[in-house]
Amino acid sequence: MEDNKMAFGTYKEVVSARATDKQIQKVSQDGGIVTALLTYALEENIIEGAIVAGDTEDAWKPEPTIAMTPEEIIAAAGTKYTFSPNAIRLKEAVRQYGLEKIGTVATPCQVMGLRKMQSYPFATRFVADKIALLIGIFCMENFPRDSLRTFVEGKMNSSLDNVNKMDIGKGKFWITDPEKESGLALKETHGYEQAGCNICLDYVAELADVSTGSVGSPDGWSTVFTRTDSGADIFTAAVDAGILETKPMDDVKPGLGLLEKLSNGKKDKGRKEIERRVNMGLPSPF
Ligand code: SF4
Repeated sequence: MEDNKMAFGTYKEVVSARATDKQIQKVSQDGGIVTALLTYALEENIIEGAIVAGDTEDAWKPEPTIAMTPEEIIAAAGTKYTFSPNAIRLKEAVRQYGLEKIGTVATPCQVMGLRKMQSYPFATRFVADKIALLIGIFCMENFPRDSLRTFVEGKMNSSLDNVNKMDIGKGKFWITDPEKESGLALKETHGYEQAGCNICLDYVAELADVSTGSVGSPDGWSTVFTRTDSGADIFTAAVDAGILETKPMDDVKPGLGLLEKLSNGKKDKGRKEIERRVNMGLPSPF
């Protein structure tokens, strides 16, 4: 077991990976790991349903959705850069859908919340215990939807309603609409993120079963950490079944160095902001 707690938290293995299914590749962000793993787990009865960030009529307003079929999981593919509070449907998934084994996807802060639900003897523990696969996604920051609209329309001269795809990479926030692809330097998006993101110390979802994101891997691939026994078992089984293909991180560019730099940078920046707030007498959860 490798252990680089400084930057990445505890993990078993880190590889570059992508879904082999062409349909998943087409609709997903990067390597399609979240969609491929959740659909595989559903088809193998490792989970009975998944809570995912579904689309709504409203542009870029994700709606937590209980997906009971692979098609419903695939329909929710693609990263949304504003929150989908998936945990809000957890109790309903257990109580009303009767699910005993649930898969879900979460930002690092949401993973932390779910792990607290599992650890503390609250009444919520019985629902959080039903999570059989918790996939975390790398996250540097997240934007309230109104903030997204403000800078997409004010600084990128596009209508949020026409944007087909969003991405963060190469130091820019990217959007694709029917006419063009355009990028905005990330320093221009600062100030639009949620205030809590400025004191967040977790970039790579350190408490997830499996965590994944594009950074470190080439276009069309994702970097994947397996962290828990169950996460590693499900990931390995999906690879053995041909659902995912992998490459060693040492064989890909830009590689783990970039991820380490960004993760440590986020922790340093967050610690400084925590110190600043504490010195001002403001409350801090960390
Ligand atoms: Fe949550 Fe941290 Fe991502 Fe903000 S940066 S959405 S607090 S994980």
